[in-house]
Amino acid sequence: MTALSALPTCLAEGRGIDFHMHSTASDGALAPAALVALCHQRGVTHMALTDHDTVAGVAEAQSAAEPLGMCLLPGTELSSQWRGVNIHVVGLLPHGAQGALDEGLVAQARAREARSEVIATRLEKIGLKDALARARQQTGGEDRPLGRPDFAKALVEAELVPDIATAFKKYLGNGKPGDVKSHWPYLSEVVEWIVDAGGVAVLAHPLRYGMTRRKRGLLLDDFHKAGGEAVELVSGYQNADLTRDLARQLDERGFYGSLGSDFHFPGGAIAPGALSDVPRTRVVPVWMHPRLAAFGAAKPVTNSESI
Ligand code: AMP
Ligand code: MN
Ligand code: MN
Ligand code: MN
Repeated sequence: MTALSALPTCLAEGRGIDFHMHSTASDGALAPAALVALCHQRGVTHMALTDHDTVAGVAEAQSAAEPLGMCLLPGTELSSQWRGVNIHVVGLLPHGAQGALDEGLVAQARAREARSEVIATRLEKIGLKDALARARQQTGGEDRPLGRPDFAKALVEAELVPDIATAFKKYLGNGKPGDVKSHWPYLSEVVEWIVDAGGVAVLAHPLRYGMTRRKRGLLLDDFHKAGGEAVELVSGYQNADLTRDLARQLDERGFYGSLGSDFHFPGGAIAPGALSDVPRTRVVPVWMHPRLAAFGAAKPVTNSESI
């Protein structure tokens, strides 16, 4: 197995590292083993599987990664709410799910079930008959809690919208009838679960919440206060100027930086390990965090040491 000690000490040289990806354990198209194989093929050597509100795919991914000499970090992407916004927090979990996180994941699965009933009722009002059953048919036979992408596919199949993008734009996206957030725990709670499991809490895709810089600053402050220690500096493809500005906001608060494609399915613009260029900044890579360095036997670097 390639140890994390082989990793670069600088985010800008983080090629081959992808700490945010999805499998069929949540709303991804590839089974965990197939995702690992694709990562291997694309030169990703260090990966985290971060399915929405579950670690169900981790064991399969781990068995697939080992014979290929790849380093797989268990993870999850938790749904939460902060000031009425649906915020995602990636947990990088060197010890897997344990402690409060174990129970937290059970609660998340229940929240997802309850939420899908509310979404279904709302979509029935706009003409999607048997919405819950139709969404359930979109999981490819996987027995997992439903997500909004399943409802989006059901809307397309019923010809109520031409494509997934329109389904989100009209019915499921931020502020639309199918955007039901009230079931999710507060941001601070999911961060506590991750810390309790001995993991590192990473704020996912901070540029994708439609926030002003000022509001993002407040989110970062609250996330930090709650025990969040890292933020995705680059998530898939993003504007270079915004990345530089984000790096300043992270540096000011002493956050570690993470990198992830947020890959869901092949054939689109996003692929495992595919990211916008990462600028040279003082932000320390999350893989240098003492709790993750122990996982791969790398020399830990504290946030105050500059690189
Ligand atoms: P959920 O976890 O059920 O709240 O669903 C959120 C997921 O829906 C995200 O993780 C994406 O995979 C997907 N999603 C969100 N917005 C869009 C969009 N505009 N177009 C396509 N997929 C989206
Ligand atoms: Mn998703
Ligand atoms: Mn997300
Ligand atoms: Mn994601």
